[in-house]
Amino acid sequence: MVEPLSAIRGQDRAVALLRRYLASGMVPPGLLFFGEEGIGKEKAAMAFIGALFCRRRTADGACGGCPECRRFASGAHPNLLRVSPENHFIQIAEIRALKEELSLKAFSERPRAALICPADRMTLQAANALLKTLEEPPPSTHLVLVAHRLSELPPTIISRCQKVPFATLPPEEVVEILRGIPSVGKRYDPVEVRAAAACAGGSPGRALLLLEETGEERQAWVGLFSRMDPAGIAAAGEAWKKTGERKGQIAVPLSLVRDLALLSSGVRTDIINEDFRDMLGAIAGRKSPYGWAGAFQALLSMSRLPPQAQKRLAMEAFLFGVHKKD
Ligand SMILES: [Zn+2]
Repeated sequence: MVEPLSAIRGQDRAVALLRRYLASGMVPPGLLFFGEEGIGKEKAAMAFIGALFCRRRTADGACGGCPECRRFASGAHPNLLRVSPENHFIQIAEIRALKEELSLKAFSERPRAALICPADRMTLQAANALLKTLEEPPPSTHLVLVAHRLSELPPTIISRCQKVPFATLPPEEVVEILRGIPSVGKRYDPVEVRAAAACAGGSPGRALLLLEETGEERQAWVGLFSRMDPAGIAAAGEAWKKTGERKGQIAVPLSLVRDLALLSSGVRTDIINEDFRDMLGAIAGRKSPYGWAGAFQALLSMSRLPPQAQKRLAMEAFLFGVHKKD
């Protein structure tokens, strides 16, 4: 399915900008969609590219029914080239392959687009290799870069793109979006959904990860929080180093520490890990509400670290922070 622009929730500013580009017929050759992970940038990029390709475009983007839209919806539109990391980073070879393809004659005279996502995972060499194409793309070719962290992109890339900013959403909006996903309504209690939205930092994608984490992993974390001895901390740090890169892994401790902060300040509602309430209640008393709130903030900022950052050290520091009296 090609989604209309109105399917992009809570991003009025970005969507208005995209509508203006389409209406004016002056779509910049290089666009940079940026903002937190999980707030709809890639979805918006696909809706926008779908609108660019559509033969019967409406004010709301792609029509969804023309041959171009049907081809786009099948996931195999020959004029859409996608670049994503093969192994954590987008390497120079992938950018060279993209340039090679762009240098060939287009499938048709219709617009062509390259979607680079996440662009902030390009190595410096890959980014440098892209500069000239960004400056002078082949005719009717658009480069759409999607980046979660602007600070990870070289200024030379940023300055060659028109920026499309995406904002984090208020928790109510995150709840609405989650409720709109059929599987979420079936599997989760409304209280759980609200709680996940409350600690997702305005990102529906992150809230979804929070919901999807498994009980097994929660059990391990609750065990660690309840023992909290230096040897256990070191072992957890080591394990984190091995698996900490997995997407959304921090969601579990985040949801638990959020609950601990609520329980320690006497709040009894909106607990995400309802099934662990008794154990968490016992752990919560070990620190002040202020101490738990600080721990939550520390984890939240860790979840925003780029993947190559020293997460093991950050995790150990966090755990020792939880361990010590405040
Ligand atoms: Zn169409």
